[in-house]
Amino acid sequence: MNCCCGDTQTINLIFACSGAANTRYPADTISRLIMKREMSSMTCLAAMGAELSGFIESAKASEKNIVIDGCPVACGKKIFIRHDIPFEHFMMTDFGVQKGVTPITEAVITDTAAEIQSRLCAIL
Ligand code: SF4
Repeated sequence: MNCCCGDTQTINLIFACSGAANTRYPADTISRLIMKREMSSMTCLAAMGAELSGFIESAKASEKNIVIDGCPVACGKKIFIRHDIPFEHFMMTDFGVQKGVTPITEAVITDTAAEIQSRLCAIL
C-alpha cells in the first residue's frame, strides 16, 4: 500500500477512535498506517472531546480532517459536528468489522486500510 497523494505540504489531520471495543484497534492502526504514508498527520481525538482549544484550532486550520470511528456510536463524528468542523468520515463497521464479534486479524487491517486509502486518494 503506497501513498498516492504525493503532496506532503498539505496539512491533513487524522483522528482515530480509541475506545475499548474491538473496532477501535483497526481504526487506530489504520490511522497510523495512513500517517506513515504521509497522507496525514495524526492527532488526538480525545483532546477534541475534552474541548482543548489548541487541538480544536488545529482541526479548524487543517486542509482536511479525517475521522475514523470504530462503530456507529460515532464518537469522533459527533465531536466534529459539535464543533461544526468539516471532516471525512470512516467507520470500521462499514467495512464489515462487527463490534464485539469480528476477530481483528492482519488481513482485516490490511484489507480495510487498502480500501480507506483508495477512498482517501480520491478526496485528498
Ligand atoms: S466510536 Fe464506538 S468504539 Fe469508538 S470510542 Fe465511540 S463507542 Fe467506542
